[in-house]
Amino acid sequence: NHPIHARIEGAVVMIGFGSIGRGTLPLLERHFDYDRDKFIVIEPGDAGTADLAERGIAHKQIALTPDNYREVLDEVMTPGAGFVVNLSVDTSSLDLMKHCRARGVPYIDTVVEPWAGFYFDDKDNAERTNYALRQKVRDEKAANPGGTTAVSCCGANPGMVSWFVKAGLLRLAADLGDTTEAPTGRDDWAKLMQGLGVMGIHIAERDTQARLAPRPRGTFVNTWSVEGFIAEGFQPAELGWGTHETWFPENARRHGTGCQAAIWLNRPGAITRVHTWCPTPGPQFGFLVTHNEAISIADYYTVGKGSSPAYRPTCHYAYHPADDAVLSLHEMFGAGVQQTEHHILSEDEIVEGIDELGVLIFGHAKNALWYGSRLSNAEAKRLAPDQNATGLQVTSAVLAGMVWALENPDAGIVETDEMDHARCLEIQTPYLGPVEAHYTDWTPLQDRWQHFPEDIDESDPWQFRNVLAS
Ligand code: NAD
Repeated sequence: NHPIHARIEGAVVMIGFGSIGRGTLPLLERHFDYDRDKFIVIEPGDAGTADLAERGIAHKQIALTPDNYREVLDEVMTPGAGFVVNLSVDTSSLDLMKHCRARGVPYIDTVVEPWAGFYFDDKDNAERTNYALRQKVRDEKAANPGGTTAVSCCGANPGMVSWFVKAGLLRLAADLGDTTEAPTGRDDWAKLMQGLGVMGIHIAERDTQARLAPRPRGTFVNTWSVEGFIAEGFQPAELGWGTHETWFPENARRHGTGCQAAIWLNRPGAITRVHTWCPTPGPQFGFLVTHNEAISIADYYTVGKGSSPAYRPTCHYAYHPADDAVLSLHEMFGAGVQQTEHHILSEDEIVEGIDELGVLIFGHAKNALWYGSRLSNAEAKRLAPDQNATGLQVTSAVLAGMVWALENPDAGIVETDEMDHARCLEIQTPYLGPVEAHYTDWTPLQDRWQHFPEDIDESDPWQFRNVLAS
């Protein structure tokens, strides 16, 4: 009873077979018609070798590098057909995407990833931002518009949350008595958000998945890529910078070139805390970890251009990872060294918890609306094999993005903000558990500590000055 969404002619090439690759595979098997003997996984590790062999899927055990990627891909891709699904770390999304488009092969990834070494070499912090990584992809789109579809950053976040922003805006508009049709283009979406009086958006996440055993000291435990989380956690905090902001953080920097939609703070994101809100905990701290969607959403919903547009929302991630990951961060930043042991919690060892991932759209007439998925690990296990709740929110977005790409083969390079959110959510929602809208009267001025005066703006609750924890 699983619908086949499309047929893929030619080679399906998956790059990377970690937690996300392993979870994506069964969804592709379920929902696409393809030739099994043309499915190949490029993955340097051997953890999945036996599993792949059992499924009759070829495994090319090699790491892609700047020197070998063209040759390795050309050996396995079908020019003008097939699909390349990039779910690896340490490979350049931009180089891979350009090569696939040159060969007419549709492409998708979940993050703008650089080649190995980028995150920790001696570049200055402005160059290590997601703004810089994203801008290169946007520049490539501008230089070479149209052509074979390449979907950039189509996981849960970045990815699905951009579709939630649109669904949430339509819900808010309806609840405020606005009966206009859903916009069809970027300008109209931005004007809708502006017209609704939205000041900003938190990508507000609370992951409560936990196992029985306590976290061993010296091990970084997470519910998805430890390597990916450490890398982004050590990047500077970044946020889309809204036009309602009246204060500018002392350690903030602007960018000299590009879309100008975001700023960065001279501090690692994973130790920068913000006040935020999710349905399960209510008020909570989240980490202002840099993410592509903080920039892409602020950019997409800009009315006007450049550094002083008519309207732009503030937008950033506010992430409370699984408790074991919080402890892992605490240990890592405290010690000043990365743990050598990494562990991703599997669906079978997790005994409780949900990944509550949504968008908190704030500053409008109804104060704030959280719109998102509240998928439990228990439900994720019933819905699909080989992944926890976090994984399924990501892999089902990859599935939706691939279907959209096959239905729109000549869309060029796109971000998820630029895709048809209704079609994508139609494909993805069966895997998301409860998708809910929650209004709250909470603002960042509430639930503070009266004994310790803070440098906040009590006249304007949704200022970033109030959101940023001191
Ligand atoms: P993981 O660490 O479990 O797996 C990554 C895999 O990439 C590993 O198996 C590794 O061996 C492989 N790899 C490393 N170097 C490679 C190379 N040079 N060539 C080919 N493969 C290589 O990570 P994961 O949890 O599966 O995440 C995969 C990617 O998805 C990461 O980039 C992560 O940041 C991203 N991600 C995005 C979202 C989202 O919502 N957008 C969520 C989770 C993960």
